[in-house]
Amino acid sequence: MQKVIISGERQAEIVEVPDPQPIEDWVVVKIHVAPMCTEYKAWLAGGRHESLGHEAVGEVVAIAQPCKVKIGDRVVVQPQWPCGRCRLCLAGDYIRCTNVHNFAQFTGSPHGQATMAQYVLKPSWLLSPIPDEVSYHHAGLAICALGPTFGAYEIAQLGAFDTVLIAGMGPVGLGGVVNAKFRNARVIALEPLPWRQAKARELGADSVLDPHDETVFEQIMEITHGEGARCTVDCAGALDAQRLLLKATRFGGWMIFVAWANEPLEIRGTPDLVQTGVKLAGAWHYNLNDYPGVLQVIRESPVIDQLISHVFGFSQIQEAFETSASHESAKVMLEPWG
Ligand SMILES: [Zn+2]
Ligand SMILES: [Zn+2]
Repeated sequence: MQKVIISGERQAEIVEVPDPQPIEDWVVVKIHVAPMCTEYKAWLAGGRHESLGHEAVGEVVAIAQPCKVKIGDRVVVQPQWPCGRCRLCLAGDYIRCTNVHNFAQFTGSPHGQATMAQYVLKPSWLLSPIPDEVSYHHAGLAICALGPTFGAYEIAQLGAFDTVLIAGMGPVGLGGVVNAKFRNARVIALEPLPWRQAKARELGADSVLDPHDETVFEQIMEITHGEGARCTVDCAGALDAQRLLLKATRFGGWMIFVAWANEPLEIRGTPDLVQTGVKLAGAWHYNLNDYPGVLQVIRESPVIDQLISHVFGFSQIQEAFETSASHESAKVMLEPWG
């Protein structure tokens, strides 16, 4: 099969590797769409990366034994290789499993691990069925485009009476706009880049503010009648944004961390939490039991199509990475057979 590797700074290539083989209840999925995520960071940094991608949708093509799927099933491939047995896995919170499989050790081969490839190997219980009327492209939004903020809004129980303040309008933050508007919440988006600001508006953000504007905090307070937002979500990973969100979270509200950030944010028990009653949480991916809810957003959101900005085949891999790294894209879909 073909897969994508990064061979140097701003250099991606397609290489030929052996096809993965099914083993026990791990099945082979032919990937029709591999949504691009943060892989562009490795492409920008350079070095050699042989295992790229954690998002995929496709069709089951090989199984080793009777299991939860059958040949021909259309599926969303959920991320990671969790154990499937621990308390977290059993409760659907498998993304936090601390007993993950060593892929190469379990399968006897490193091939089939990455999703920027024509086939992937996955435990059958991590394959979520795609209804006939949902396209592969739309189903591809059920991973990192809509997933992290869907999980965040379940924590906060975001609804129509709420305002959500989202920092960072990359594909995850934009997914946060779609999820929030689906719940009829009011959305304030924080984003400095014009392309992303326009995309946030297109997806329904009620207010789009530049976080570098000196009066941004006052603007947020004015929009929220002096209260702040009941839910704030960090999809930017920048310290300044996190500080602003903490300050702009309504008393008793939720501040939820989604972005992977390197710098520590200083939070003081008093006054940041004790006085304000603000609740902190981290959201990575949604609970597996929430997949039907994510599907409902995909089926019914009137703007779902606009969350996908580009589609590229493997033959356009360089252009795909350039677009993904440009910050002028929403979700970029890669087609391994195109
Ligand atoms: Zn587990
Ligand atoms: Zn992702």
